Amino acid sequence: MSNAVTYEEWSSISDTFPVDDKTKGALGVLEWAYRVYPENQIVYASSFGAEAIVLIDLIQQVKHDAHIVFLDTALHFPETYDVIKKIQEKFPTLRIEMKKPELSLDEQREKFGSALWKRDPNKCCEIRKVIPLRETLSAKQAWISGLRREQSPTRANTEFVNKDDKFKNIKLCPLIHWTWDEVWDYIREKDLPYNQLHDQNYPSIGCFPCTQPVGDDGDSRAGRWSGSGKTECGLHT
Ligand code: SF4
Repeated sequence: MSNAVTYEEWSSISDTFPVDDKTKGALGVLEWAYRVYPENQIVYASSFGAEAIVLIDLIQQVKHDAHIVFLDTALHFPETYDVIKKIQEKFPTLRIEMKKPELSLDEQREKFGSALWKRDPNKCCEIRKVIPLRETLSAKQAWISGLRREQSPTRANTEFVNKDDKFKNIKLCPLIHWTWDEVWDYIREKDLPYNQLHDQNYPSIGCFPCTQPVGDDGDSRAGRWSGSGKTECGLHT
């Protein structure tokens, strides 16, 4: 298998990972990644959604004390904090970091007015997600994401190993070939904890002001920033 690829010395190696095993290439990508990137140079940026539960279970098979970072915007549902607690209890050696933005919600309100997410969600995401994540990820050679190709048209061309121009490093997406049904088959088969909002028509879960349940015919991210025209928080664009 290939050696580490870096932003500065980029080469496309996604085709070198076979996808015909039972994890559709995910375990192979993770085994390679944790072998070639130094421990302090790779992190999983996790939302603790359904894909994250699969990824965490796969990651801990490869690296039991892997570093996982969660963007704690202070605007998440209680159910999200609850599943993080359950995952930490199930996998106590994982190092879960709750990364907070520089501004508290009160400070953001004083500086930009109340409910910034309604008036300028891009600014709110920049403050509470993109800047804190940049602080973490820009210092790493590689980061892991749970993106799947079928999630939305904006993610249809994602590769296993991607050059990330936003953070000037490598973005690894082991689950690109997984379907939503396969994610849930895995969670149920292994009886893993998951966010209880998934049982209430929330396939994709972010901050509570910007997340709505979806109908059966919507794409899995249709409930995020619904009606605003915004489709991504800015981490993947
Ligand atoms: Fe703000 Fe909504 Fe972005 Fe959360 S998802 S940071 S509340 S705009």
